[in-house]
Amino acid sequence: MQLLDGKQTAEQIKAEIAQQVAEIKAAGGKVPHLAAILVGNDGASETYVNAKVLDCEQVGFDSTLIRLPEDVSEAALLAEIAKLNENDDIDGFIVQVPLPAHIDETRVTLTIDPAKDVDGFSPASVGRMCLSLPTFISATPNGIMELLKRYKVETSGKHCVVVGRSNIVGTPMSILMSRNSNPGNSTVTLVHSRTPNMVEVCRSADILIVAIGKPDFVTGDMVKDGAVVIDVGITRVPDETRPRGFRLTGDVDFASVSEKCSFITPVPGGVGPMTRASLLQNTLKAQQLRGQF
Ligand code: NAP
Repeated sequence: MQLLDGKQTAEQIKAEIAQQVAEIKAAGGKVPHLAAILVGNDGASETYVNAKVLDCEQVGFDSTLIRLPEDVSEAALLAEIAKLNENDDIDGFIVQVPLPAHIDETRVTLTIDPAKDVDGFSPASVGRMCLSLPTFISATPNGIMELLKRYKVETSGKHCVVVGRSNIVGTPMSILMSRNSNPGNSTVTLVHSRTPNMVEVCRSADILIVAIGKPDFVTGDMVKDGAVVIDVGITRVPDETRPRGFRLTGDVDFASVSEKCSFITPVPGGVGPMTRASLLQNTLKAQQLRGQF
C-alpha cells in the first residue's frame, strides 16, 4: 500500500505557484489577487478563511478579506459581490459557506462573475466543466484529480465508484472521472443514501472515492484487493486525549482498508491540503484566463 500524500504534494504545488509568482513579479506583471467574503463568526469558517489568506501570503498572492456581520442583508452581500465583480484588481473571489439561513446561497453563486468564480460553484462553471471547456473546477475534486495525476494512478478503463452526490464533491467528481481526459476515462458509478446494494457496488470499485461525512463508514470488507481509495470525509470526533478535544476522522476505516488497497489518502494530510492548494491554482488560472470567458 502506498500513501497518496496530499500534504507533501500540496507543498510542492505551492512551491511551483510561488515560483510562477516570482517570475510574474520579475517581469513587472501584476500578482494574482484573491478576495474572500466571510459572513458572521462561525469558528470553522474563520479557520478555513484564515488558512486561505495564509496560503496566499505563502505563495506571494495579494489577498483581501471582507468581513460582514451575521445579520447582513442579502442585498448588501450581493452588492459587495457586484463590487468585486467590477474590481479590476481582483482576479478571483470566494464567498465562504455556509451562509446564514436568511441568505439564498444559489442567488449568491449566480451573482458571482464566472470569470472570477475560483470556487467553481456557479452553474456556469459546472456547465463548462461538464463540456470540458476552460473553467474553474471546485477545489476538492480538482485536488483529487491532481493527486491522481501526480501519483500516475491509472484511471482509464477502470471502474470508479463515487460515494456521495453533493454539488461540491461527489457530483463533480463523478463527472470528471468519466470525462475523456487523464485522469478520467473511468466507468463511473455514483452511489448515495438510496442505493440499496452499496457494499456490493463498493467491492467492485477499482477506484473508490468516498465523500459522505460518516466517520470510518467504509471498512476493509467493502474494498476490493488492490483498489485505490480516496477518503474525502473530515469529521471532528470527540477525543479527550487530544489537546483540542477532538480528532479529525475520515469516512474510511484506515486500519482495515489500508491492508487491502494499493493507494490510500490519509486523514488528515490527504484531500484537505490538496483542496487548499487547488484554490491557489484556480486563482492563478483566473489571472491567466482573463478575457477568455
Ligand atoms: P454532504 O453535502 O453532506 O453530502 C453527503 C452525501 O453523502 C449525500 O449525497 C448523501 O446522500 C451521501 N450519504 C450520506 N450517508 C450515506 C450513506 N450511509 N450511504 C451512501 N451515501 C450516503 O457532503 P459533502 O459536502 O460532500 O462532504 C462529505 C464529507 O467530506 C464531509 O465529511 C466533509 O466535511 C468532507 N469534505 C472534505 C473536504 C476536504 O477538503 N477534505 C472538502 C469538502 C468536504 P443523499 O444525497 O442521498 O442524502
